[in-house]
Amino acid sequence: MTASSQPRQVKCPTCQTKISWIPEQVFRPFCSERCRLIDLGEWIAEEKVISEPAVIDDTADEMLWQ
Ligand SMILES: [Zn+2]
Repeated sequence: MTASSQPRQVKCPTCQTKISWIPEQVFRPFCSERCRLIDLGEWIAEEKVISEPAVIDDTADEMLWQ
């Protein structure tokens, strides 16, 4: 078996393109800088949502009653 000589295949999390996990793939696990930036943007957007004050349905109901 020469499995160790086969580079590991990973899917780009953004566009699902298969790439080899090799040093030449500088944007791995992404296939390109573009996909890496897209994912980074989504991550920042998620973080923004989390850091925003939580609006709970109960609070909204309370405000309606006041
Ligand atoms: Zn991609």
